[in-house]
Amino acid sequence: AFDIGHDLGRAVLNARLFQREKQLLEEMRELDSYKSQLIKTVSHEFKNPLTSILGHLELLEGVELDAMGGRSLEVIARNTNRLQRLVADMLLLSSVNDPSRPLDPRPVDLLEVLEDVHEIVGVQAEARAIKIVVDAPHEPVCALGERPELERVLVNLISNAVKYSPEDAVVAVQLARTGDRVRFTVTDQGLGISRNDQVRLFDEFFRSSNPDATRRPGTGLGLAIVKRIIDRHAGEISVESKLGEGSTFQVTLPGCG
Ligand code: ADP
Repeated sequence: AFDIGHDLGRAVLNARLFQREKQLLEEMRELDSYKSQLIKTVSHEFKNPLTSILGHLELLEGVELDAMGGRSLEVIARNTNRLQRLVADMLLLSSVNDPSRPLDPRPVDLLEVLEDVHEIVGVQAEARAIKIVVDAPHEPVCALGERPELERVLVNLISNAVKYSPEDAVVAVQLARTGDRVRFTVTDQGLGISRNDQVRLFDEFFRSSNPDATRRPGTGLGLAIVKRIIDRHAGEISVESKLGEGSTFQVTLPGCG
């Protein structure tokens, strides 16, 4: 049967729910922009004092200190370097999040980028007897994007694969063209990532609570930066992983056509 009162009641309720949803979305957007602004301001404010601390640390390196002074200086230097890495990552995240800096895409040969990246992360891999194996075509693999940002994606993914692997492991990097896109994958035989963690992996400051992972230094910003860069490039990123067995990160990007 037809109950006009009931139907009207439902319509009013739906309209109210819709309104509330819109309001919540708006509030979330505002919070997001507030968060980005906060990260930007804080990282800029940290930069100058940090530069000053680093300068004075360098001066102290030439000064003779007793054993205790030497140990203290070492601790200060180590932690200052950690802070510096954190600030650098926060500044980079702000920059790839900055709406007033739209992407300026150009053809980039990922094979060439990979060679440079190999030089950067190769040292880190060698120190732990980890082998980086590359499978790529012999001709250029052209993606459309900003080279420094694409280089950063590769550095972050490959250095994570190395960092979260045991000694003597293999990290496999694959580069390929697929139709009008290019794809690269980074596979490791490391710690792996639980299903729960996979959901929040690309969130800012997320670090797994897995004690084996937290033992290794990090800021929790690497994958957030990767995700932002991939989004800006109209690319896609996905992860497949099993705890204790390893992970594969796959990225696709627009090719040069
Ligand atoms: P960071 O490595 O600085 O902590 P990331 O944003 O790069 O930050 O990664 C976030 C978290 O995701 C890491 O703390 C780690 O727990 C997990 N993770 C990332 N890459 C891997 C990987 N290849 N294998 C296992 N865990 C990973």
